[in-house]
Amino acid sequence: MERCTMSPARAENDVTGVVTNIQHFSVHDGPGIRTLVFLKGCPLRCLWCGNPETQAFRPEIGSVAERCRPGCSACREACPAGALARGTSGVMLPDTSFCRECAPLSEGRPPCAAACTAGALRVYGTRRGAGEILDEVEQDIVFYRHEGGGMTLSGGEALAQPEFALALLREAGRRCIHTALETCGFVPSETFLTACSLLDYLLFDLKLADEELHERATGVGNARILENLRLARAAFPHLPIRVRTPVIPGVNASRAAVRALGEHLMDMRNISWELLPYHAYGNAKYAGLGRRCREYAVPDGECMKELEETARHFARVVSAEEHAGSCL
Ligand code: SF4
Ligand code: SF4
Repeated sequence: MERCTMSPARAENDVTGVVTNIQHFSVHDGPGIRTLVFLKGCPLRCLWCGNPETQAFRPEIGSVAERCRPGCSACREACPAGALARGTSGVMLPDTSFCRECAPLSEGRPPCAAACTAGALRVYGTRRGAGEILDEVEQDIVFYRHEGGGMTLSGGEALAQPEFALALLREAGRRCIHTALETCGFVPSETFLTACSLLDYLLFDLKLADEELHERATGVGNARILENLRLARAAFPHLPIRVRTPVIPGVNASRAAVRALGEHLMDMRNISWELLPYHAYGNAKYAGLGRRCREYAVPDGECMKELEETARHFARVVSAEEHAGSCL
């Protein structure tokens, strides 16, 4: 990879993609202090997804319930498509089947959001250029230099916008910025391995070993995911890989499920494994998007400890507290 060069800006800077959010100063998604770039769109539909606003590829509108004012209809009056109506909760909600046609959405300021002075309508997803994103990421470079860290691509599934994701990674490399990727692994192997060649660190999500259960819980089978993990380990033995497993009661929060996943990891070197307890932080966002979500119990400390003990038989386990700022 061409890294840390002072060569003038190239075509990568002009590649555009849809980004949901850029989050600064994260300490949970790769080593050191990270700037997270969330790319919009995901091929999976995990039943417990905490970021439903990142699933669809197109930009969309969501409501923030506590800000929406009773008796107000400014957004509805501004909407040329008749796409807004009050839901049963009394909050103004978008109807995505109508909203899809609104062109200004991709530029971040559609008429409905512009009309809402309460800030109750959020635009999820704006089209941005890779160079512009890297300019923003680069503003944090002083923190990376002091604390370690860099840019982490997340999603959705970042590699579901392959040209854009690869442009971001290449450009980060040129600017000497440490690169990490969080992936669900359900991407074409060629794209995935190209991304690995541009990475300093890989966060790889593994949810279930059983293919049928995986398909029921996420909408896709896991054969390609497991194969991509194997390929990455074989082709890039020095790339640190952190496998991450969300622990969802009723889905995979059992010793048997952890053991079955562990069997795929036990012969792999340079791998660490993190079990992440389910949380319900995303539930309000489902409501704001006019969607229903499934609710699960939050696994308690005892449950997590027990599962981590099982996981330790197969790989080096990193617990959530240990994770902050840690490297493999
Ligand atoms: S979303 Fe904003 S503009 Fe629309 S009804 Fe609520 S407060 Fe009014
Ligand atoms: S984005 Fe456009 S079409 Fe969709 S609700 Fe807002 S104004 Fe209406």
